[in-house]
Amino acid sequence: MTTYAAPLDDQQTRRLREAVHGDVVTPGDPDYDEARKVYNAMHDKRPAAVVRAADAGDVIATVGFARERDLLLAVRGGSHSVSGYGTCDGGLVLDLGRMRGIRVDPQARTVRAQGGCTWADLDHATHAFGLATTGGVVSSTGIGGLTTGGGMGHLSRRCGLACDNLVSVDLVTADGSLLTCSREQNADLLWAVRGGGGNFGVVESFEYRLHPVADVLGGPTFYPLDGDVMRAYREMIAESDDRLGALLVVGLGPPAPFLPERWHGRPLCGVVACWSGPQEEDDRVRARLGGLGPVVGQYLERMPYPAINTLFDEMLPAGLFHYWKGVFHKGLPDGAIAAYAEYGATAPTIQSATVVFPIDGACHRVGPEESAFAYRDADFSSALSPALTSRAECEAAMGWARDFHAALEPYSEDGAYVNFMGPDDQDRVRSNYRQNYDRLAALKRRFDPGNLFRLNHNIEP
Ligand code: FAD
Repeated sequence: MTTYAAPLDDQQTRRLREAVHGDVVTPGDPDYDEARKVYNAMHDKRPAAVVRAADAGDVIATVGFARERDLLLAVRGGSHSVSGYGTCDGGLVLDLGRMRGIRVDPQARTVRAQGGCTWADLDHATHAFGLATTGGVVSSTGIGGLTTGGGMGHLSRRCGLACDNLVSVDLVTADGSLLTCSREQNADLLWAVRGGGGNFGVVESFEYRLHPVADVLGGPTFYPLDGDVMRAYREMIAESDDRLGALLVVGLGPPAPFLPERWHGRPLCGVVACWSGPQEEDDRVRARLGGLGPVVGQYLERMPYPAINTLFDEMLPAGLFHYWKGVFHKGLPDGAIAAYAEYGATAPTIQSATVVFPIDGACHRVGPEESAFAYRDADFSSALSPALTSRAECEAAMGWARDFHAALEPYSEDGAYVNFMGPDDQDRVRSNYRQNYDRLAALKRRFDPGNLFRLNHNIEP
């Protein structure tokens, strides 16, 4: 096992413990191994200390401590970063996982949620009022990383990206200031946080706009893996109204009770629908999905909105080994469909399904320069997402992901969604932000000239 000399001596550790209200966990503490763990098991790092922050004061103190001592700083919300940006070797981890306060304002239709919340926390709190906003499709994902990178989910076509629903954030910047960023104050920082990732500081709390969404008709319909089904899916998205969310999933059949056993582990494509329109139109949506191709299995029910964001949870527990690549498409070209059919059939495991998120509709009604998230003309955003049970298997599957990505390249945009990019995609960051990159770099120079927040898809000052 690799061990790293802790750069914090006893006196420094004491100082840090005195400065924060929450816990400081260091090597040798009984819960150190638990505290250093992140979702993606590929990142088995040994930080000098993990600060489990209790409040904004702890965030300010930890940021100041790292800056003054020139320590590497990893900020962790839900810990789902596939690139492992929520941990580091030898530096400090600022873990927001205990900062999960939420306050819904049903009259104003807004919610304020602390930076360590997961989508399970937020969906649960807002559902009590029949309200929701766009969030992740796996409930344990953090609102922090997902929202600052953009944020795609079942409601994207209707409500925009998660970052499009941000009304304001309370942000701790590299100099330790806590700034409220809204349309009225520090508007350029709110602009940057809407897609610019964790580059600009630590979001202590997010304020989101909410929408009246209580129950939805949701769940997967599976078909044989076939180009015609994917073309019919493409047509359905182009024709249907924004209240129909529908992820395309390509890979091997899961061992689900509603899928006949002969399809388990066999190449399939699935459409995971989320119809948030009126129940009277459910049958029309069912018929549309039934008409995409020969249905081999289906679980399509009315369910509370939070439930649709738990359908993948069991298949994707923490502790698997992940390596992802991201792709944006305009339309869904036939060449891309051929690549999805070819590589879907050879997915390394059932958990390695490729997920294609439609990001048209409300996502297109925001201008390319209105937020840092620049790809407002992309119609689909895909995560090529191998997930395996050992490091060796994951390393072997990287070649599959890279070949798949290369096969899609002629039919894809230069940039991709930062939250689906791998750690080896730093050279694609500029193309991801397109015309917004220079403005982001200028803001980075102003608010983080020393690049304290560099464990992310980094915008260099
Ligand atoms: P962390 O690892 O905690 O943080 C990741 C990055 O975000 C770090 O760079 C960190 O500095 C920054 N960050 C986190 N919290 C804050 C904060 N409060 N303030 C400032 N910076 C912060 N993406 C989608 O858009 N839609 C999905 O449906 C979706 N599903 C996913 C499902 C799974 C199983 C996984 C593994 C990922 C999924 N993603 C999805 C990608 C996801 O958006 C990213 O992995 C995201 O980084 C996760 O955020 P986190 O807070 O959990 O991650």
